[in-house]
Amino acid sequence: MSGHLPHVLVVTMGGTIASVPAADGRDAVPRLGPAELLASVPGAERVATVRTESFRQYPSGDLTLADVVELAQLVHKRAGEVDGVVVTQGTDTLEETSFLLDLLLDRDAPPVVLTGAMRNPGLPGADGPGNLLAALRVAASPAARGLGPLVVFADEIHLPRFVRKLHTSSIHAFGSPNAGPVGWVTEDRVRIPLVPRRREALCAPESLSAPLPSVGIIRIGLGAEPLRPEHAAGFDGLVVEVFGGGHVPSSIVDSLAEIGTRVPVVMATRTGAGELYESTYAFPGSERDLLGRGLISAGALDGAKARLLLILLIAADAGTDAIRDRFAAIP
Ligand code: ASP
Repeated sequence: MSGHLPHVLVVTMGGTIASVPAADGRDAVPRLGPAELLASVPGAERVATVRTESFRQYPSGDLTLADVVELAQLVHKRAGEVDGVVVTQGTDTLEETSFLLDLLLDRDAPPVVLTGAMRNPGLPGADGPGNLLAALRVAASPAARGLGPLVVFADEIHLPRFVRKLHTSSIHAFGSPNAGPVGWVTEDRVRIPLVPRRREALCAPESLSAPLPSVGIIRIGLGAEPLRPEHAAGFDGLVVEVFGGGHVPSSIVDSLAEIGTRVPVVMATRTGAGELYESTYAFPGSERDLLGRGLISAGALDGAKARLLLILLIAADAGTDAIRDRFAAIP
């Protein structure tokens, strides 16, 4: 029977799903490997023929861009051998690792399904086993082929470019504010009724060499001071998280435009949802003013994802116009 099952590779990278608490569910540290994670998922052997790879054992804040590039290379290497890949990791940066993989893997790559847990295995109602089982079902499903990386959490299926961690502790921490989930898992059925438009990969992971460009993020707050040159020192690009549909205090526009003459400056909304305006307002500090002064719009991408896209574009030697075009092509 197992000869007829899809082959799924489970790659583990630590996080709460792999964390063992000392007592009473407290002081958890990532420790569990793939065998222990799979042992907590009764029935996994009926979903797929699973092989495993222990890739990292980190809290996800310690993952690096180089780790994700290496993960993308691993997926390429195993592409001919498996039907799908499940990646388990910490939830803190899951929206970013999944988006970076989305930019690095082409449409022929096997589906990569990322998941994690909000409650560690020592807590009542631990969600890791259920999330892992759902992720296995999606990675093994023909419905997931050709869609690129997906995030599966609490039985919902999300696209990397929309998904965000929206809560510190809820087991429903993940949502896609701009689009909603594209599918779900019920019992053993994987449903993906909203099939996404798939883009080509931005660049092959093999083409990237360390160190990757460095891009900073600055969030604008009420009464923000003009940026000083030091704010951009050492960075190859800057993402500015701006008010609402694309606004900053008028007093800081000159400083942003000045930095924009030296490195690309991308603006993203700090609201958490929605797309930036282009031509609704014309006051100093408005979206029209900022775009006219050379800032690049992230459109509907949030700041963290805009930073990753900008890093890859700078790595690919894209000029300002190419960067602007690529951001405009993202929705
Ligand atoms: N701190 C953890 C991590 O991201 C949180 C989690 O996994 O939910 O590794």
